[in-house]
Amino acid sequence: MQLRGDREGSRVDKPNLKDMTLKEIEGFISDLGKEKYRAKQVMKWMYQSGAASFDDMTNISKDFRTGLSALAKISSLEIVKIQTSRDGTKKALFKLNDGNFIESVLIPGKNHWTLCVSTQVGCRMGCRFCFTGKCDFKRDLLPSEITDQITMLRFNTPYGKDIKNIVIMGMGEPLENYDNTLKAIRIITADCGLAISNRRITLSTCGIVPAIRRLGEDASVNLAVSLNAPDNETRNFLMPINKKYPLEALIDACLKYPMPRRRRLTFEYVLIEGVNASLKDAVSLAGLLRGLRCKLNLIPFNEYPESEFRAPAQTDIEAFRDVLIKHNYTAVIRAGRGGDILAACGQLSGRGNRTGEDNV
Ligand code: SF4
Repeated sequence: MQLRGDREGSRVDKPNLKDMTLKEIEGFISDLGKEKYRAKQVMKWMYQSGAASFDDMTNISKDFRTGLSALAKISSLEIVKIQTSRDGTKKALFKLNDGNFIESVLIPGKNHWTLCVSTQVGCRMGCRFCFTGKCDFKRDLLPSEITDQITMLRFNTPYGKDIKNIVIMGMGEPLENYDNTLKAIRIITADCGLAISNRRITLSTCGIVPAIRRLGEDASVNLAVSLNAPDNETRNFLMPINKKYPLEALIDACLKYPMPRRRRLTFEYVLIEGVNASLKDAVSLAGLLRGLRCKLNLIPFNEYPESEFRAPAQTDIEAFRDVLIKHNYTAVIRAGRGGDILAACGQLSGRGNRTGEDNV
């Protein structure tokens, strides 16, 4: 597939402007003896017009373009394949310049798409219920590799212009790749960047407490916490990170996470038969979250190859939700979207079928 944005990608020796925030590009351009305002022009070309090379930036003088291309590059990702689930969810497989693969998931809404982006190749967190956590961790993604999941889909698919919401939750733990994720958020929200409001961005974490505190100071995005247990014993079993940052510290960080008045935290809770889905668990969960302005997404466990768990029966899932509602929480059962193409929560691996026809 010939894509816009792939002509500058192979040059590895020059700084990549897509790894820089507006401020950094301004500094880079000032160092070349040019006016700072040109940084905004360059960013608009990269993120709002999908410019593939400096030659495409036609309102910038030829001399300056030549100078830029001698000293910097513009990267891209290769879209290898896009699969479509029976329910309309799409999974995009990207190839990185070093040959690694990552996946993003597009979830259809009424008049828009939500894009779930990855921040690492694999994940080190080892959550027991998650396929990504069982795959080898390779490396952190660069800021450009995070934002290019959005940019490449925006300019190379018919529905890309309708991507309105971003969820930072695909492969990897975003707060483990803190600096690059924060830089990506700055580029996504910049007026001259992807220009997506921070109200429409949600970052999901397994609970790296110090980084949650930092994020609250550095950005103003929505926070989702992958909780999955009402007590430390169960959470230690499901999520090794809990041994380092137990529930008391996690809930305290959530209570202190700064949020505008009308926003709420999201807690994700994967329901696993015989592990965390009893009515007693639901009552404990209601007690644990007391005092938090939040909503709960209940996600019946999505099976994957060799998974050791199963989802509870539908009646048990509904009974669990009803306990939370009785305790005045907003609790929604999230239908596993894209399960038939391994695109649902906890199913991403970057191993998607890498050959064959795609169905953009
Ligand atoms: S649930 Fe998230 S943090 Fe846990 S292993 Fe999977 S990708 Fe990593």
